[in-house]
Amino acid sequence: MHYLSTRNKNKKESFVNILYEGLSKDGGLYLPSSWPLIPYETLKNKSYKEVAHDVIYPFLKDDIDADSLVTIIDKTYENFHHKEVAPLVKLNKNKYVLELFYGPTFSFKDYALQFLGNLFDYFIKNNKNNITFLGATSGDTGSAAINALKGKKNIQVFILHPYEKISKVQRLQMTTVLDNNIHNIALKGNFDDCQRIVKKLFLDNDLQNKTPLSAVNSINWARLIAQVVYYFWSYIKLDQKKINFIVPTGNFGNVFSARIAKYMGLPIEQLHIVTNANDILHRTINEGRMFLNKVEKTYSPSMDIQISSNFERQLFESANRDSDLINKIMLSFLKTGDEVLPDNLIKDIRLIYNSHSVSNTETLNTIRKFTNKYNYLSDPHTATGLSVLENLISENPTVSLACAHPAKFGNVIKAATGKEAKLPSQIDNIFDKEEKMVILDNDIQIVKNHIIDCI
Ligand SMILES: *Cc1c(COP(=O)(O)O)cnc(C)c1O
Repeated sequence: MHYLSTRNKNKKESFVNILYEGLSKDGGLYLPSSWPLIPYETLKNKSYKEVAHDVIYPFLKDDIDADSLVTIIDKTYENFHHKEVAPLVKLNKNKYVLELFYGPTFSFKDYALQFLGNLFDYFIKNNKNNITFLGATSGDTGSAAINALKGKKNIQVFILHPYEKISKVQRLQMTTVLDNNIHNIALKGNFDDCQRIVKKLFLDNDLQNKTPLSAVNSINWARLIAQVVYYFWSYIKLDQKKINFIVPTGNFGNVFSARIAKYMGLPIEQLHIVTNANDILHRTINEGRMFLNKVEKTYSPSMDIQISSNFERQLFESANRDSDLINKIMLSFLKTGDEVLPDNLIKDIRLIYNSHSVSNTETLNTIRKFTNKYNYLSDPHTATGLSVLENLISENPTVSLACAHPAKFGNVIKAATGKEAKLPSQIDNIFDKEEKMVILDNDIQIVKNHIIDCI
């Protein structure tokens, strides 16, 4: 197996190369040259870790031996605080919630980023090189990445967040990690300022000459394959003929991982994409036209996205891997923010995907309704999916994904239910911990000098 780019199908890269590189130089995203088929019957009665091994191994077997992967996966999930790792909760006859908030930072991001951290650790030890990760965060990704990379040898991590513009829990989850290789930068600006500086620094030759730079955002292929695991896991737990999933969606990473599971042979009948007021995916699938709006702030901030990067991977697959066509579509869309998709492409997408847009009001109502009706408390991202689950009629079992622990979004929970969400003990104790961060002016030169001083 090798890896090609959505903008150049003739590319032939190894797994290690695409792990380090993240995004292809031609602007495309990486995909494997073919889809390995997993006979899911062989996964029955296996543990989460064993399922993870069987699902992930075909994608990297040219670069890692099976035993080393066992060690990496053991390490990855050993600190998750549920024995099932990803428990399936039954609400009624064929409606289920898959809870993905048992990692160290209480969002589903941990399931992939903990794996990514251990993968890099393995390759950096073997290749005796070093690397600097650089990222901007508005919340969940930053804390998950910091937790995954803390204390790792020959890895430095710089995460920018907008000063005083993230929640206290989100800040503390990052700044109470005191390891020497973790550098939190609170930037006197907004999230876009953080992102702009990070993007420019990636193009800075001076900095690149001092250390290789890498990103931890969700276009990295290794993150997607770690997420494929819990779709197989749900299926074998339910042991029915077919299954549907409902996935609250931002960057299209999580829901595309479900699509990958289907390419690998999992009998998924329908995939429901759920967006909030930032509904570009919903509109695209219904109207066949990708049209950018301004980003709106909602109760589910991790879904406040207009350009869903991973959607390009789906377009490539639905276009029968015609990378010339995807190149044309994406360049035109990035220029104008408005693109009509070819009919056959949108038809293929509609075969499996259904899409929905859920408002702030519906989100609050759903949180309230599920606490009353099912005694189930969900975070606002999860609630967008549950609002679809409640109204869905299907003969097959449907699994809606719980993406974060409700306590991470205490103010929304309070607004919906009138009560505070109970913090898990692992979050509760961060309020007494020492914090480490620097507060910097919104100036690229100042940020760059700080990074160079630290590495
Ligand atoms: C990242 C995130 C999402 C969106 O997932 P994508 O893979 O970007 O589609 C939804 N909910 C929560 C809580 C998240 O952290």
